[in-house]
Amino acid sequence: MQLKEQLFQTTQVRFGCAPDQCDDHQLYEALLILTRQLAQDRPAPSGGRKLYYFSAEFLMGKLLSNNLLALGLHDEVRALLADLGRDLGVIESMEPEPALGNGGLGRLAACFLDSIAALGLPGDGVGLNYHYGLFRQKFDHNRQTEVPDPWMEADSWLIPTGCTFDVPFGGFDLKAVLYDIAIPGANNQCANRLHLFDVAEPASAPWVGIDFDKGDIAHRLTSFLYPDDSDDAGRLLRVYQQYFMVSAGAQLILSELESRGYAPDTLADHVVIQINDTHPSMVIPELIRLLTAKGLSFDAALDQVRRTCAYTNHTILAEALEKWPLSFIEKVAPQLVPVIQELDRRMKEAHPDPRVAIIDGQDRVHMAHMDIHCGFSVNGVAALHTEILKNSELKPFYDIYPEKFNNKTNGVTLRRWLEACDPQLTALIDDCIGAGWRQDARKLEKLLDFQEDEAVLDRLLEVKQHNKNQLCRVLWAVQHIELDPQSVFDIQVKRLHEYKRQQMNALYIIHKYLEIKGGKLPERPVTVLFGAKAAPAYVMAKRIIHLILCLQKLIKQDPQVRPWLRVAMVENYNVTWAARLIPACDISEQISLASKEASGTGNMKFMANGAVTLGTLDGANVEIAQLVGEENIYTFGQHSDTVIGLYQGGEPDGRAYRPLDYYHRPAVEGLVDFIVSPELLAIGDPAELSALWRDMKYKDWFMALLDVEDYIAAKERCLKDYGDRRAWAKKMLVNIAKSGYFSSDRTIEQYNKDIWKLK
Ligand SMILES: *Cc1c(COP(=O)(O)O)cnc(C)c1O
Repeated sequence: MQLKEQLFQTTQVRFGCAPDQCDDHQLYEALLILTRQLAQDRPAPSGGRKLYYFSAEFLMGKLLSNNLLALGLHDEVRALLADLGRDLGVIESMEPEPALGNGGLGRLAACFLDSIAALGLPGDGVGLNYHYGLFRQKFDHNRQTEVPDPWMEADSWLIPTGCTFDVPFGGFDLKAVLYDIAIPGANNQCANRLHLFDVAEPASAPWVGIDFDKGDIAHRLTSFLYPDDSDDAGRLLRVYQQYFMVSAGAQLILSELESRGYAPDTLADHVVIQINDTHPSMVIPELIRLLTAKGLSFDAALDQVRRTCAYTNHTILAEALEKWPLSFIEKVAPQLVPVIQELDRRMKEAHPDPRVAIIDGQDRVHMAHMDIHCGFSVNGVAALHTEILKNSELKPFYDIYPEKFNNKTNGVTLRRWLEACDPQLTALIDDCIGAGWRQDARKLEKLLDFQEDEAVLDRLLEVKQHNKNQLCRVLWAVQHIELDPQSVFDIQVKRLHEYKRQQMNALYIIHKYLEIKGGKLPERPVTVLFGAKAAPAYVMAKRIIHLILCLQKLIKQDPQVRPWLRVAMVENYNVTWAARLIPACDISEQISLASKEASGTGNMKFMANGAVTLGTLDGANVEIAQLVGEENIYTFGQHSDTVIGLYQGGEPDGRAYRPLDYYHRPAVEGLVDFIVSPELLAIGDPAELSALWRDMKYKDWFMALLDVEDYIAAKERCLKDYGDRRAWAKKMLVNIAKSGYFSSDRTIEQYNKDIWKLK
């Protein structure tokens, strides 16, 4: 049947009217139903081994456009809607964004699912169906507040499967109900699945904020991603969530294995499990438990699990490497305790070094240690990150298991992060080099032939201007923020964390503000854009948001500064915002303290959309710099080995870094002190701003003051060079041309070749 007739039939059945009688939401719903069915009807890819990608987060973003693209229906639907006088963009704006992730880690999982399906590999995601996501961020009196973010409407992408598993907790059982989201492959006729488990009787949200009864496991286990873990009830709830996910996931794997006709003792021949960070680590003891219950000896079960599980490390921040008290696991899943103790005993016997123990002297279970001992692969997510893991962070493990360690530099799906979010740039690229890059992103390098083509460079600048104009319209419509589309758009969007150093960017804004107030006008107006959520219990991160919002207000009110400098923070930064901001960016801020950002993926999306990176030599920035060459990126700051050295051996906090030394430098003191200036104290909360000022001056845990002078100098160079439009356009072109390496299709091919070996 023709698509047009199908749409007609769907709206008739559903709403009793023809498509042209439907409102935008009804049309969205009809397209959702149609698209979901087409994706659901596709068969799974065939193959030998099957991958299960376990992740606490899948930050999928809106799916309508993406799925239409993958199904090859995007242009047809757009034209069909245009015939009805409707716009696909407007229809898609009806779709709520599922907030099943926090930041880069969850978005990576989503890009991976897209690439796994596009490459026709058999691989499903396994996660949880959080009803209220992370949280919705609202600004109130220049502060972040949090409210629940319900994303499931009567109709959503979720497909009920009717499939359930019993998860045994200490003292009670819970039924895990399985919902699927179909993931159609862009280059084939297949589809994989994202399996999301839910409790049978989820609570609806009667609460006002994001506080709730964390003890009500049966109804609230899947309410929120990352419930506030500043108390024991919150931490315990996380362990409940993790065990629920992995127990149901492990049972699903074994039941699929059985229905494929294979015995449990052949698990490793037919299944591979990728453990995305340590949240799913309990899948290891859970699988051993389930396999021994099916009659395997402990040795045989461990052998299967060891050949099935692979672990991805995402961070070297000590506070992010999970260590659960054994007493928590005793309460949540007592049946796992003897398994973990036996694993611990065996590993201690083979490797007495306490640094590699699974259970430490304080009876805490080191989840990453269990992954490394009991899996066959440990990968970092960028070249530098993997080197740091091998040489310092996980060195004792690398000495034992050098063969397990490997690097898989992250990537992003260019189907979403170029084709879908920047259609004009996509059309320009197609005009230059044809459409072959969509199958093989490395072909983007052919753009290098156009470096001296003035017509192409001019078109590139026109596309960027178009995208900036469009962003200005959206910001005005959504948040009543008025920006100058002719100014330079300098953008830092990512989770708020001190290591990502939004506070250093704020110091740049203060620098520029003070210069303008002092009569030194910049060569051209600059707009500094932010988007960031702070974890609800992360006090310092919320103070940094407060500072940025206060600066935004201060400058907006100042007629002398306003024409030259604007600051804007988008509310509730998410995938939808990212897809609007990234195509409009001139300067991509990737300024984490060297050694702290494992890879970053925002940096890759910006690059692919023709932004030039201003960054430290951290994470994948290092690889970006190598690819584009130093004339096409602005790097600054201390190197990772220097930084790692500064964290060691000193007084009084164990570091050799003393922020006061930098604070007292003439160019720095005035910037830091402006945080507690009368101008800012009149706008913001004096207690919050003073606390932030004190922290920066006396602690500065992530060394913003170490790099701030170098950062300001680099940004000034960048802004100066922006003035030579042709030369700048050439930098943009080289960045786009070299971004093919960062396609997640490349990343997934490497995972498959080195780790998964699916077919
Ligand atoms: C890509 C992305 C991230 C990750 O950004 P980084 O700069 O790598 O931290 C976070 N959030 C959203 C919504 C994204 O799309």
